[in-house]
Amino acid sequence: MAATSPDAGVRLLDGIEASRDRTTPAEYAAALPGYRRCAPSELPTGFTVGWRYRAPVVDIPVYLKYLQRRFKAAGGTISIGYARRLAAAAPVVVNCTGLGAAKFVPDPAVTPIRGQLAVVANPGLTEFFAEHTDDLREVTYLLPQGPVLLLGGSAEHGRADVAEDAAVAARIRARCALIDPRIADLPFLGHRIGIRSARPGAGGA
Ligand SMILES: Cc1cc2nc3c(=O)[nH]c(=O)nc-3n(C[C@H](O)[C@H](O)[C@H](O)COP(=O)(O)OP(=O)(O)OC[C@H]3O[C@@H](n4cnc5c(N)ncnc54)[C@H](O)[C@@H]3O)c2cc1C
Repeated sequence: MAATSPDAGVRLLDGIEASRDRTTPAEYAAALPGYRRCAPSELPTGFTVGWRYRAPVVDIPVYLKYLQRRFKAAGGTISIGYARRLAAAAPVVVNCTGLGAAKFVPDPAVTPIRGQLAVVANPGLTEFFAEHTDDLREVTYLLPQGPVLLLGGSAEHGRADVAEDAAVAARIRARCALIDPRIADLPFLGHRIGIRSARPGAGGA
């Protein structure tokens, strides 16, 4: 898609994924294009192992608009509303209500994991950095999206409010500034907050 659909918001970026506690790269890493293990000198302070590869990085707001255009071009229609129950007359219903499934199904096993990112002007990064963890918790990542840089991120289990949390943003900035000191002085251009849905056996990404 990066090559064939320039309006999809997908681009291929090289970058580093690194762990603070592993001693060897993640098992999947060797299969990734452009894979190689990082030399210790390539890793930021506090990271024990890292590996480089090339991956598609997606600008999600752009990508979702692209998908909408394709869906409509294929004859689909979109109507927006709040569904209170499954329509008995519909032959097929795909329920993709995310966290809303907790009430809609209802399925009390579905719980929120709040995520917050910060947006700053991109000071010139052309590669990504992503912290690897084996569970979903506060991590450090820097994703260049053209003129802006996304800084991450949080994973607050059980929390579902979407107001900007200044303390979370400050921790994100502090962690990312250890990777690239220029970030310490860049004003926030915005914050992106989303609520992942999780349930036992199927955690949020
Ligand atoms: C900060 C953050 C970073 C993330 N980063 C990544 C990443 O790098 N890679 C990755 O793969 N994933 C990532 N994720 C996870 C990814 O965003 C989710 O997996 C994805 O959004 C799930 O999509 P979905 O359509 O299933 O559910 P959702 O995006 O949760 O959408 C559900 C929709 O259903 C609607 N809805 C709910 N109830 C009803 C109802 N009764 N009637 C009508 N509509 C209803 C809601 O309003 C919502 O629009 C991230 C999430 C967060 C929060």
